[in-house]
Amino acid sequence: MAERTRGGSGTLGTHVGAVRERPVRQRSTTPGKIVVLLGPPGAGKGTQAAKLASALGIPKVATGDVLRAAVQQGTALGTEAKRFMDRGDLVPDDVILGIMKDALSQPDAARGAILDGVVRTVPQAEGLQKALGELGRDVSAVLVFDVPEEELIRRISGRVVCEKCQTPHKGLEPGDICPKDCGRLVRRADDEPEAVRRRLAVYKAQTAPVIDWYRTHGVRVVPIDAVGTPDEVRDRVLGALER
Ligand SMILES: [Zn+2]
Repeated sequence: MAERTRGGSGTLGTHVGAVRERPVRQRSTTPGKIVVLLGPPGAGKGTQAAKLASALGIPKVATGDVLRAAVQQGTALGTEAKRFMDRGDLVPDDVILGIMKDALSQPDAARGAILDGVVRTVPQAEGLQKALGELGRDVSAVLVFDVPEEELIRRISGRVVCEKCQTPHKGLEPGDICPKDCGRLVRRADDEPEAVRRRLAVYKAQTAPVIDWYRTHGVRVVPIDAVGTPDEVRDRVLGALER
C-alpha cells in the first residue's frame, strides 16, 4: 500500500498529503512471527536462519551476534555481559535474555524474528517466554531441524580448518595446505566422529525436554527434514510456516 506513494515519476503520487495518511505502522495489533530454531550441530540452522530472515524480511537474532553487538555498543547489559566474559565466565541466562529482549524491542523486529541458538534448555525457554510476555508477544512456532546422526557425523567430521588463520575449508582434507596462507589444515578435536557423537548425545538430552515444554505450553512444534540443499530446506520451512 505504501508503495503507491513512491516512485511513479511524473505522476502526482508523491503528493505530501498522500504520505500523511499513513501513520506509524500499526505495531500493537499484529506483531510478527517469532520463530525459534532448534537443531543439532551440523543441521545447518545458521544457514537457514539467514535464508529465512531474508525470505521473510525479518531479522535473524542469534545469541552470539546480539551479545557481541551489545558489548560493542556498550549498552548497560552489554557492559554487564563483558564483565563476565573478561573473567572467562559464561554470561548468565538472565543477562542474555535482557539483551535478547532489547533486540526484540527494536522496530525491525516488530514484523517478526528468527531466533537461532537462543533456546537450548528448559530454563531458557521459560526465560524467553517471560521476556516475550513482557513485550506482549509470544513464540509462534518452534522448528526442529532433523538430520540422521550418521549424516551429521559425516558433515561435521568432513570439516577442516587452517591451523594458522582458522578459516574453515570445504572439500579439502586434514594435512592439505590452506590456499590463503599455506597453513596446515586440521580437523578440530571437537569435530572428530567420537566427539561429534558425544555432542549429539548432549543435544538430545537437552532438547527433548525443551520440545516437550513447548508442546505442553501449546506452542506449535514443527519437525523439518533438514536433509537436502539449503534452498530445498528453506522452501520446506516456508511451506510449513504457511500452514
Ligand atoms: Zn590459513
